[in-house]
Parts: sequence; C-alpha cells; structure tokens
Amino acid sequence: PSSRIDGFGTTIFAEMSALAARTGAVNLGQGFPDTSGPPELLERARAAIASGDNQYAPGLGTPELRAAIVRHQARHHGVELDADTQVVVTTGATEAIAAAVLGLVDAGDEVVVIEPFYDSYVAMIRMAGAVPVPVTLRAPDFRLPVEDLQAVIGPRTRAIMVNTPHNPTGAVLSDEELTALAELAERHDLTVISDEVYEHLTFDGVRHRPVATVPGLADRTVTISSAGKSFSVTGWKIGWATGPAHLVEAVMAAKQWLSYTSGTPFQGAVAWALDHADDFVADLARQLQDQRDRLCDGLEAVGFGVIRPQATYFATTDIRPLGFDDGLDFCRRLPELAGVVAVPHQVLHLDPEPGRPFVRWAFCKRPEVIDEALTRLRRLSPA
Ligand code: PMP
Ligand code: GLN
Repeated sequence: PSSRIDGFGTTIFAEMSALAARTGAVNLGQGFPDTSGPPELLERARAAIASGDNQYAPGLGTPELRAAIVRHQARHHGVELDADTQVVVTTGATEAIAAAVLGLVDAGDEVVVIEPFYDSYVAMIRMAGAVPVPVTLRAPDFRLPVEDLQAVIGPRTRAIMVNTPHNPTGAVLSDEELTALAELAERHDLTVISDEVYEHLTFDGVRHRPVATVPGLADRTVTISSAGKSFSVTGWKIGWATGPAHLVEAVMAAKQWLSYTSGTPFQGAVAWALDHADDFVADLARQLQDQRDRLCDGLEAVGFGVIRPQATYFATTDIRPLGFDDGLDFCRRLPELAGVVAVPHQVLHLDPEPGRPFVRWAFCKRPEVIDEALTRLRRLSPA
C-alpha cells in the first residue's frame, strides 16, 4: 500500500453499517433514508434505462441537468450561473469534494477544516498531499469560533472547507458567521469549498444561506450539492459543483480523470426533480423535523444530553449522563448493550478529545424504526 493511505482504515460509516448488519442492530449510524424519493423520479430513471439512455454522458453532465441546476439555484437562492462554464455534474458530492481538492489545492498547502467533519474532507486533503488544519466546533451550540479560525490561518493556508448545514452537528451558519468567514477569506485570499448537500433539509423556519451569496465570496467559492439528500436517492450518486468559471474548470479538469462522467440515466431524472419536486422536498423537511423531535424526545427520556439540530439527518447526544465517556467505545458496544448502531463524533475530529463524549444518531428513518431503536435504548436508562 502507498503511504498516501497510511492510517485510512475503513470509514466509520462502513464499519458501523457492517456492525449493524452483523448483529441485527437498528442502524441509526450511516445517514441514508429508508424510503425512496418521489415515484415519478424513480419512474423517470427506469424509463431512461428502458429507452436506451445508457451510454456515457458529457463530462460536464448532460445539458438538461446542468440547465436544471442553474434554474434551481436561481429559484431557491437567487444565484445566477452559466450552464456551460459554471456547473459540473459529479458522482455524488463525494466526487465533487475530491475533484475540488485535487483541482484547487497543491501539495504542501494547508486547508482549514471545521471539525467534527464529514470524513472524506481530510482523507482527500491528505491524498492531495496537503495538510488539514482543524478548527473545532464546541458543544452545545457548535457555533463557528471565528477567533480560532482567524488564529489558524497563515501564509500556507490555501483553502477552507465549510459545510452548512453541518454534518454531524446540524448547525446552520448564521449571517454573522458567514460575514466573518467572508472577511477572512478575502483578507487571506482563500478559496472556499462549501459542502451544502443538506441545503433544503432545515427545520423550525431556519433558512440555509448559500456561502456563495455572501458579498465577497461568490468569486472564490465552489459550492457542492447532491441529489441524494434532497430527493432521498443517496445510492444514485449524482452531485454537482458550481461557482465561478475559473474554479469550476479546475474541478472539471480533475473530475475527468476520476470518473470521467457520471450515471447517464439518473441525470435526466434528477433534472426533472430539480424543476418539479419542490413539494416533495418541503414534505421531506417537515417529516424529518417530526422524526428529529421523535428521536430527540426519546433520547432525552432515555437519559442522554440531547442537542437538537437545526437541519440535516442527524442529532447529537452527550453520553456522559448515562455513565459513558468514550463515544467510539460506546458505539462499538451499543449493539450488544442495546441492539442499536450510532456514530461517534471523535472519529470525525483530527483531535478526538473534544468529540469524545458525543454520539450522532440518524433520524432519516421511518417513525417505527426510530421507535424500535428507542425501545431498545431504554435498557441503558438507570433503573
Ligand atoms: N457531504 C456531506 C456533509 C454528507 O453528509 C454526505 C453524505 N453522504 C456527502 C457529502 C456525500 O454525498 P454523496 O452521497 O452525494 O456523495
Ligand atoms: N453522509 C452520510 C453520513 O454521514 C453517509 C456517509 C457515507 O456513507 N460515506 O452518514
């Protein structure tokens, strides 16, 4: 094996899903819904395959999907993009992240990551030969610590990766945080890679504000999203990156040597959904909010310290009130203790210490699945 992959091991999401499969535990670990997207979306992919739409799409993505991404960004966010130079379709947001890092960061550069993080960021920064520099979000509110951010930026800092709404904490960057980010990015001439896959999955009237809409950030930000989250088709792996032409061109230059092009029959279907499935997405966000409350109320009743998220698929708990202190150890034992699987925050940190007592639970699951998990978890409650 190459030194590039030293210490990579297996992603926590694969480890925990395998643990759930092996033990029959209820899987509230890996974030994927247990229901599929809108029926017409599914039917359109089937029809595309049946009609022979099965060969390579253009590298940038089909013109139809790129045009739909442009309309979607204009309608929801007021962002104007050119479909031929400012949009590239990718094999999930994961490939967009990989291509953005490979296309925009040099070996030896420092890249700021906000921890806890979606784990592919740091893996990709390392594969690019660059150096991840963490800024830690702290419980219970997980707000962006602007002074810490300022303190880690130095002459070698090339880029900052942000994620709003944020996995795993569910925090949504506020206008004040975004303004501070813009000020630092401009002052230090940084590229911003902004992962916004949960753009529509916000609760309680909280609105996601795209990073690229903040004055000063449009020209330096690559924005990443994915059909998987908005339309509950995480297995389709259709994502995209948008931004100024000079950055998107660099993402495309890297993407062409990763996957070359992304799943053709899904692209037309996703284009349809971007134009026509706003009601599905709004219903999904409402359902997720109800499921969040169902899960969070139940976890509180079990005795966890619960941090109720503003967005995403995930809630966080502090496990200390139940007498545990190490999330990784807790999650590895949880199938045997209670027949449930969850994900520890600490493996989503470079410095595991601040994440140690926190555990993430996915609520993108049917109410009966959440209830079954909660019934099992009551075994952890003090008698
Ligand atoms: N970013 C974040 C924050 C995520 O939670 C996910 C979920 N898998 C991804 C990126 C990857 O998205 P995709 O499945 O489209 O590659
Ligand atoms: N985004 C999902 C999660 O955070 C799935 C991640 C994955 O399987 N790579 O759980």
